[in-house]
Amino acid sequence: MTTQNPTAKSMRNPDDLIVIAGAGGFIGGALTRYFHDQGFTNIRAIDKKPVYKWYQRVPGVESLCLDLSDRENCHRAVEGAVEVYNLAADMGGMGFIEHFRVECLRSILINTHLLEAAYEAGVDRYFFSSSACAYNITLQQDPNVRALKESDAYPAMAERGYGWEKLMSEIFCQEYWAERKLKTFIARFHNVYGPYGTWDGGREKAPAALTRKVIEAQESGDMSIDIWGDGTQTRSFMYIDDCVKGIDMITHCDELVATPINLGSSELISINDLVSLIEGIAGVKLDRTYKLDAPRGVAGRNSDNSFIEQVLGWEPSTPLRTGMGQTYTWIKQQYADRAAGLPTPAAEEK
Ligand code: NAD
Repeated sequence: MTTQNPTAKSMRNPDDLIVIAGAGGFIGGALTRYFHDQGFTNIRAIDKKPVYKWYQRVPGVESLCLDLSDRENCHRAVEGAVEVYNLAADMGGMGFIEHFRVECLRSILINTHLLEAAYEAGVDRYFFSSSACAYNITLQQDPNVRALKESDAYPAMAERGYGWEKLMSEIFCQEYWAERKLKTFIARFHNVYGPYGTWDGGREKAPAALTRKVIEAQESGDMSIDIWGDGTQTRSFMYIDDCVKGIDMITHCDELVATPINLGSSELISINDLVSLIEGIAGVKLDRTYKLDAPRGVAGRNSDNSFIEQVLGWEPSTPLRTGMGQTYTWIKQQYADRAAGLPTPAAEEK
């Protein structure tokens, strides 16, 4: 991390109350661990899932099971908070967001109530996790895509359901600053991957899904793999450690108040090449079957990191090969744990 950027550690007292919504999930869980490891002693982690289903349980953290689409629960959640991070949403990979648009849209209730409760409680800083799905889809119809810059969200033509919810919640955050002076911060994440992310059950994203399929092929001896789409679609993938560092720096940069910013890797790769990369890590070569009727998302998407480099002098930079190596090792262990009957909460029931 660049030393000159303010962070929670440089701005806050270790006992200031940090609230993390969606802490039972992938990124919220990693952020909870990150702040805990930074020495924060007063963290309240919240998720609607019962605590035994959380992907990570961090010792010494107040862990609450609350549905944050409920207004009263949001008031309870932010009581006494200095900073609030909203990572709670009903979401998943393409398979989920193409089939469950109503669920995705309903996440607007979470941000709407949490933001108002944060404002009423006098919270100092509020972070919202937006998505690259908020960008205009007409700019993403070619695998050799031009990387998306922040202004590409408008004129608006977001991903149906999920993307529109993100765009509308961004606007809520922007207006709470414009009208009420609540400092809000908005990052548009581009696909995040890494250990403790969903890897089975229908909500997993491409890096975890493909890694699981490679492991399944190895374990079963049936050396083949199904790929959604024709494999030419391109994406960039950000390692989880870069994501949590970026959230911290963005939330403590006053230049970024109410200003959506990309938080993603700019290392573009096709799904075919991602499969080859995982095969290389696993030391196998599989027969590929392309499922052309499966959800495939936009043809290409990459993050233009000019703005984050300009403002923070930093961008997510963990090489995909390094991050996927860590992810493969972790999923392989989870796979073995599940086979041995141990709990594996990040492989949710369908
Ligand atoms: P996740 O599904 O692992 O975590 C989200 C958590 O929110 C889940 O544990 C879920 O139970 C919880 N939640 C859902 N509804 C809730 C409610 N009503 N009250 C309380 N908790 C509730 O997802 P993630 O990958 O950790 O994503 C975190 C945030 O980042 C989300 O806003 C997501 O849209 C955004 N995002 C993620 C990615 C990615 O690649 N993972 C990309 C773009 C944006």
